[in-house]
Amino acid sequence: MVIVVQLRYSFRVYPSTGQRIALARAFGCARVVFNDALRVREQARAVGLPFVPSAELSKQLTVAKKTPERAWLGEVSSVVLQQSLRDLDAAYRNFFDGLRGKRPTMGPPRLKSRKDTRQAVRFTANAGWKITTGGKLRLPKVGDVAVKWSRSLPSVPSTVTVVKDSAGRYFASFVVETDPEMLPATDNVVGIDVGLTHFAVLSDGTKIDSPRFLRRAEKKLKKAQRDLSRKAKGSKNRAKARIKVARAHARTADARREFHHQLSTKIIRENQAVAVEDLAVKALARTRMAKSVHDAGWSAFTAMLEYKAALYGRTFHRIGRFEPTSQVCSACGVKDGPKPLSLRVWTCGACGTVLDRDINAAVNIAKAAGLAVSACGARVRPVLVPAQREETGTHPKPQPVTTGRHAGISVL
Ligand SMILES: [Zn+2]
Repeated sequence: MVIVVQLRYSFRVYPSTGQRIALARAFGCARVVFNDALRVREQARAVGLPFVPSAELSKQLTVAKKTPERAWLGEVSSVVLQQSLRDLDAAYRNFFDGLRGKRPTMGPPRLKSRKDTRQAVRFTANAGWKITTGGKLRLPKVGDVAVKWSRSLPSVPSTVTVVKDSAGRYFASFVVETDPEMLPATDNVVGIDVGLTHFAVLSDGTKIDSPRFLRRAEKKLKKAQRDLSRKAKGSKNRAKARIKVARAHARTADARREFHHQLSTKIIRENQAVAVEDLAVKALARTRMAKSVHDAGWSAFTAMLEYKAALYGRTFHRIGRFEPTSQVCSACGVKDGPKPLSLRVWTCGACGTVLDRDINAAVNIAKAAGLAVSACGARVRPVLVPAQREETGTHPKPQPVTTGRHAGISVL
């Protein structure tokens, strides 16, 4: 079996004033094409006509470019406009798949607004974009844009997406294909659960908190949001405060991504197989309210675990919810019913094991995925009892997660 891993690499780019204007034009044209095509499909649906195929939309686009009202679409790369139609198709596909139950349900495609926080255009190989010998990014009808190459690309990408984020920063994002790189095999396997009071809890007993650099960024974001709420509506200071909030948002997102990268790399390096539970399973939101707070970050984190597992020859399992993990003793398997969220530690009535709620769940997740983890991690171990020392030595020791320098995967 040939496995090819797709990785996304993002680099900050610094367009000149003229290039910013050209990019703004490209964002605008891509948006108009998307919205025009969406309206065509919606109007067809409203009068009971069949779904308008993309070939037809493409034809209509060519015609539109010849009209005075849409002639300015000719000022940007036609590939960008075609890609915008592809994006619309993808949005419809996701929507329909959701309706068919193939993926979590999501709303139908919506009109894009000039005020959207994230703007993006995509150039494929036939747009004729390239990386110049001087290391600049040459974009058709935009020019040679300066790039900060923070790492090297493992192979030549065919597509580049140029993004402007809510903080007004520009990025070039490449998708490249690479072969997996096998890490030395290990016997360790791990189940991971979202902790109620921690970011994640591992079946070996490790509890992982958000690192300080992320908490600091979140704190600054909260402060910026507070400052914004105090400014008078329509005032100049309010506009300034809003930009500060957008920047703080961007920095928090960056810090969170960095943390997810560090942690996922560490877990993949140390374990042969990793199991997480699928939070897309809807019932979860109802049963564990507190968890939904983490959800956005959690799915990004597990997505990283998944692709890194593929990249490094590890196994990744995503288990559906089979039954509430807190109701089952991870040591003897007895199901002894629901427990209030406030109950953090309990003793199994059947086997007498003292169980930690979060770790017990992580062990159950690993077991549901068929991983041979020991339930010992889930036990609340009395400290300084000599008889326990041997036991701790035979199991992977909980280790603090280090931040800062990190070897390994260098992808954004
Ligand atoms: Zn038990």
